[in-house]
Amino acid sequence: MTFTPAEVLRDRGIAATAQRLAVLRAVANSPHITAEGVVAFAQADIGAISRQAVYDALGVLVNKGLIRRIQPVGSPALYEDRVADNHHHVICRICGVVADVDCAVGSTPCLRAADDMGYEIDEAEVAYWGRCPTCQAEGRTTTVLDTPSSRRQNQRRTRPEELHPTHTAKPEEISRAI
Ligand SMILES: [Zn+2]
Ligand SMILES: [Zn+2]
Repeated sequence: MTFTPAEVLRDRGIAATAQRLAVLRAVANSPHITAEGVVAFAQADIGAISRQAVYDALGVLVNKGLIRRIQPVGSPALYEDRVADNHHHVICRICGVVADVDCAVGSTPCLRAADDMGYEIDEAEVAYWGRCPTCQAEGRTTTVLDTPSSRRQNQRRTRPEELHPTHTAKPEEISRAI
């Protein structure tokens, strides 16, 4: 049995406004979309919708678990409607394109840290960085993303064509580290 987006919203106790439905459509239409991408899509979709209304709707939908917000280091926040499966992301350090990858060994094994340090862990965020097939095919080796992450990674990595899993740092950790 499938539910309409409006029914899904009401089921979570959220009013199914035209704005929220347009934001949901935008995220469903292009996974890993930026907030600005959602603004453009929603404005083309329903006409008048303010940037603030889009950001407000994104906040509500993330809080209610209907969409997921990810923020790769050096990237704006990205939104997707594939939620609650703890999947990970592979990110091209050259062009920034993002793809989903399933958890390596099951649904949520990353939540079992080798040592949880006494924390109650409820989320693991894994980002794989590398070069996407398009950038490989076109021989692109220099990034257009001038981020602290790409500078650091490029200095550290000798073979950028290889994928290595790295845990993403939170933005606040980055700004503290600079
Ligand atoms: Zn690429
Ligand atoms: Zn994803």
